[in-house]
Amino acid sequence: MKNSANATTVLVTGGSGYLGLQCVLQLLQEGYTVKTTIRSLAKKEEIIHALTTGGIHHFDKLTFIEADLTKDDNWMEAVSGCTYVLHVASPFPAVDPADENEIIVPARDGSLRVLKAARDAGVKRVVLTSSFAAIGYSRSPENYTFTEQDWTDPSTPGLRPYLKSKAIAEKAAWDFMKREGGDMELTVINPVGIFGPVPGGNYSASMEFVLKGLLNGDIKETPNFTFNIVDVRDTADIHLRAMTHPEAKGERFLAASEGSVSVYDIAVLVRRERLQHAANIADLKPLGAEVYVHLSAEKARKVLGWKPRAKEITLLDTIDALSGVEGRDHKR
Ligand code: NAP
Repeated sequence: MKNSANATTVLVTGGSGYLGLQCVLQLLQEGYTVKTTIRSLAKKEEIIHALTTGGIHHFDKLTFIEADLTKDDNWMEAVSGCTYVLHVASPFPAVDPADENEIIVPARDGSLRVLKAARDAGVKRVVLTSSFAAIGYSRSPENYTFTEQDWTDPSTPGLRPYLKSKAIAEKAAWDFMKREGGDMELTVINPVGIFGPVPGGNYSASMEFVLKGLLNGDIKETPNFTFNIVDVRDTADIHLRAMTHPEAKGERFLAASEGSVSVYDIAVLVRRERLQHAANIADLKPLGAEVYVHLSAEKARKVLGWKPRAKEITLLDTIDALSGVEGRDHKR
């Protein structure tokens, strides 16, 4: 525990979420005083249980506030007394809604609500969880390496609502800062697909679908794409680094571990490292020369000294956790 962190209060929005919970856990481990917003206080006990599983046994430094991104209520109370805000909450549904505004409006207006309240309360810095969705969906990935310089144009034809919501919300946040941010600072984290074990086992539907589907044989063919991943533990870590690092002010940081994977690559990894799962995995074929998305997370490594785990460790730890085996908390 860092003593310097003791006097500092941090708000995490969405402490009930996969990443939000991990941020709360790491902040408490670091000795910060933590406030977290949740949509319903009914989730409080579940969160405390998950944090206990994660090794937290004293909750005197954690406060819950009920707040919804679509309503003004309680946001001032949530940010009051905070030096930093990690704005993690945003709708991330497993299925696209019929009306894209169901996702876009809370994402955009919620970010603006949090930023306005934070500015008015004298918060020093907000770290906003954006996504690779706000970076890499408006140009062909062929022969190209995506960086923080790239932006997804929300008017790109066929862009799915979630991807659009992240691009629109991040753009709105930067515009707000330019126009009326005052002395407050903004830093943005743009993670790729987040995987990895969390206390309490609150996994995203897509992650369970891919990994459980592979392990129980439901996935019969290798889908025609590769994807980039980042560990949830490293994603929380990059948020904490971005929160205090002087050079993070006004910057975006892509968060990704090295290289990309296909479902076939995961099958090969599981067969090699977790023999007990091999029997159910369907006989998959490798991908050919299909679309590989290349991106660089060098900036976070250089500026923040961030060192994400290898993707193989993240995948195996996730598989262990999903199959009820205690995840081995490998360090890089
Ligand atoms: P998650 O588990 O679904 O968490 C989303 C959080 O947002 C939950 O706490 C949820 O609260 C909250 N939320 C949603 N709508 C809300 C509303 N109207 N008012 C208040 N809170 C609301 O997903 P996650 O993976 O942790 O996502 C966290 C952040 O990371 C999001 O900003 C997401 O876009 C970003 N991200 C995720 C990934 C990924 O692969 N998982 C990749 C890149 C970026 P409830 O518990 O009440 O629903």
